[in-house]
Amino acid sequence: MASSYRNGYRGSSSGSMKVDRPVPSSNLKASSFKSRTSTGSALRRSSPASLTALDDGVPGRVRVAVRLRPRNAEELAADADFADCVELQPELKRLKLRKNNWDSDTYEFDEVLTEFASQKRVYEVVAKPVVESVLDGYNGTVMAYGQTGTGKTFTLGRIGEEDTSDRGIMVRSMEDIFADISPETDSISVSYLQLYMETLQDLLDPANDNIPIVEDPKTGDVSVPGATLVEIRDQQSFVELLRIGEAHRIAANTKLNTESSRSHAILMVHVRRSVMGREDIISSENGDPSHLAKPFKPLVRKSKLVVVDLAGSERVHKSGSEGHMLEEAKSINLSLSALGKCINALAENSAHVPVRDSKLTRLLRDSFGGTARTSLIVTIGPSPRHRGETASTIQFGQRAMKVENMLKIKE
Ligand code: ADP
Ligand code: MG
Repeated sequence: MASSYRNGYRGSSSGSMKVDRPVPSSNLKASSFKSRTSTGSALRRSSPASLTALDDGVPGRVRVAVRLRPRNAEELAADADFADCVELQPELKRLKLRKNNWDSDTYEFDEVLTEFASQKRVYEVVAKPVVESVLDGYNGTVMAYGQTGTGKTFTLGRIGEEDTSDRGIMVRSMEDIFADISPETDSISVSYLQLYMETLQDLLDPANDNIPIVEDPKTGDVSVPGATLVEIRDQQSFVELLRIGEAHRIAANTKLNTESSRSHAILMVHVRRSVMGREDIISSENGDPSHLAKPFKPLVRKSKLVVVDLAGSERVHKSGSEGHMLEEAKSINLSLSALGKCINALAENSAHVPVRDSKLTRLLRDSFGGTARTSLIVTIGPSPRHRGETASTIQFGQRAMKVENMLKIKE
């Protein structure tokens, strides 16, 4: 992240600090997975009046990475003589899915992450561009989709206590957020939720187990005002919250006689930044202190990072269970298959996108076909036994790559 900018922003307002985010406004296209497209517009605004003019929206397709989990002990033993069901060509950003011994289908992704990809690299290509957008005032989503056991939680939720190189996307995102914000003027608040059988539960307060989703009829913005929202000031508090959330998740799942692979975990990070401080710094850097006399309207810019650890995608296909299990299978089908349907509709530019069909799609309304920058990681395993699940995960990722969002700052 642009560290001297960061230091500058944090420093005094003497006008001596350096701002080094030289993104010309002509570069304002959201084409690269790694680019920080919004920077120019966020910094170049000279007055609040110009905000709307500049913020018509930046096209931003949903970015999709695929990650292969290394063989586990069982696969090493059982499948030792078999070839993996996929072959990755990371430099070509290609994945080959074996059909048989002599034939395979080839797919292209925005990033192809092999079993050797480090957590750091995964963070950098999948989540960091989203986090940077969120710091600039856009909403952002990072989501993991895949069969149970393929590494969704490893990728997103690892705290990395024993080995800090294991730290996952949630923890690393928060580190970058804390490194960039200014504690005097900005604030960070967190909610952590679980969606199980179309019921939204508060992972920070287990008694709060049926949270309504509220939509603003005018703007269409979605919020969960009933969820516990904790303001945090440092990384340590965040890690504590994650631990509390995880403990409650295990407790809730034990009580409901289920496991985490059947529910969706949703972390929401609300970022509030004071924008005026930036304008001051930019202008004084340009050697034009005259604006300081102008009556600035102080602006608070709110944005949101949503990290979603989805239920195991295999549930979409499983049927034939009975009683409670059947209800559960149905409702997990409901949310995940509704997500699949919305992504299909968006990928095909269909007039009707069935967002209202499930709580998950209502919650993720802004993330697909909305104004957020969205990055999806699809996780797969190497075993040829799960070739069918792997194929359907790959298909899901391919369709998501066709979804266009229009990134917008809302003030
Ligand atoms: P999921 O959340 O998709 O069900 P998990 O994240 O729980 O899957 O991963 C299943 C198992 O595989 C865990 O023991 C996890 O530590 C391990 N694992 C997953 N991805 C990796 C990886 N990239 N490197 C090493 N171990 C991994
Ligand atoms: Mg998991």
